Amino acid sequence: MSTVPAHFEQPILIAGGGPVGVVTALALARQGLAVHVFEAESKVNDAPRAATTHAATLEMLEGLGLVDEVIRRGLIEPLFRIWDRSTGKLVAEFDFGKLRNDTRYPFAVQCEQHKLTNLAIDRLRAFPHATLEFSSRVMSISQSSDSVEITVETATGTRQVKGSYLIGADGGRSTVRKSLGIEFEGYTHPERFLILTTSFDIGTTFPGCTRNYLSHPEDWCAFFKVSGDDGTGLWRVLSSTRLDQTEAELFDNEAVQHRMQKFIPKEGRYEIIHRNLYNVHQRVAARFRTGRVFLAGDAAHVNNPLGGLGLNFGIHDAIELTGLLGPVVRGEAPIDTLDFYDRHRRPLNIEFVQQQTIANKKRMEEKDPVARARNFEQLAATAADPVAHRAYLLRASLIESVRKPASLSDPRYQSIPPD
Ligand SMILES: Cc1cc2nc3c(=O)[nH]c(=O)nc-3n(C[C@H](O)[C@H](O)[C@H](O)COP(=O)(O)OP(=O)(O)OC[C@H]3O[C@@H](n4cnc5c(N)ncnc54)[C@H](O)[C@@H]3O)c2cc1C
Repeated sequence: MSTVPAHFEQPILIAGGGPVGVVTALALARQGLAVHVFEAESKVNDAPRAATTHAATLEMLEGLGLVDEVIRRGLIEPLFRIWDRSTGKLVAEFDFGKLRNDTRYPFAVQCEQHKLTNLAIDRLRAFPHATLEFSSRVMSISQSSDSVEITVETATGTRQVKGSYLIGADGGRSTVRKSLGIEFEGYTHPERFLILTTSFDIGTTFPGCTRNYLSHPEDWCAFFKVSGDDGTGLWRVLSSTRLDQTEAELFDNEAVQHRMQKFIPKEGRYEIIHRNLYNVHQRVAARFRTGRVFLAGDAAHVNNPLGGLGLNFGIHDAIELTGLLGPVVRGEAPIDTLDFYDRHRRPLNIEFVQQQTIANKKRMEEKDPVARARNFEQLAATAADPVAHRAYLLRASLIESVRKPASLSDPRYQSIPPD
């Protein structure tokens, strides 16, 4: 007769092999727990999305043995700058180096999210108790008091898979979240964000800093350097679009050249490597857990990318959830311990991710000249005052969110602030 408890025999199932799904799987596998990841697509998505990885996240990736490779494949950047694009003046420069007594990583690392995902998958493959299946879509879920069951669709048909728990890391359109009937509270911005990736070295025009935010009442933009797959460096230019602009109009060669020349004038044409258009949301799931099923990453919360916080917080979800699940699965902690995940993560996302990204977007696009001037004065004053500068960065790097005492059920953070 087997002496292995049932919860060790049944794997923890994960819907979604994006960065949050595979980091969650790795954190569980390293605890000796059986995991099975189902990814709908046939390969890792390498569209330009997250790159900025903050200090608090780098510390967590250190715990998973990933940080050295993330740093090696990315670019270290201690600074970010905020500009007034209408005057061309630098408003404020912030320096994560000022956090050297707060973290082992006083900088951000620009490492594209597909690199992190591939790295985590490589590590996952070393564990005999971890399985990752591509081209396997989770279609429906059910659960009982002691197990979960999912229906998985592959090219050869559908099958049922049983597990002890299910983690929905299946992105913003999460099937898991919808199957649980959980509302995705918040709103979608009417405009879309366009990312144009160029091989032109924008650092020749904006030297000394690879993370720049340029505020403007009609036409803000932000540009960041990433190392690219071959390490030679690419620049991503992020900007907003008008409501009436179609994808065909926005991707048109001349329109793209015009947009790039408007932001960073140069002689000759830009070589454009990618053009990508994204809908932008501020939404948080009404619950992050129902019984044995959890939501993590974009399945649980989505936000605009200004500040680079969405994936960072998703990785923090993964670490917190796996830290709670391990002891419960091993029988060392009662199942009620898992309530903490929803009680803690949901208000934390609203307080740190939704509030900051909404404020960042407002500052970038502010139309009222008085409010713009006030914003710039405040930013400049914050950057000039060492105490305020450090406090601002502790929040921007999510270190403050990680340090926040765990006794959080603050009613102020039960809903997303309006736009
Ligand atoms: C332009 C842009 C820039 C960004 N920049 C940053 C940044 O600098 N820093 C930052 O922290 N965040 C950033 N983000 C946010 C970041 O990209 C997301 O938070 C991140 O992708 C979330 O990871 P995830 O694994 O939760 O979801 P996803 O990356 O969406 O992965 C979900 C996975 O689940 C799979 N899937 C979906 N449905 C199913 C199903 N039914 N069954 C099985 N698999 C399924 C999908 O194929 C996908 O692979 C940015 C986002 C955008 C759009």
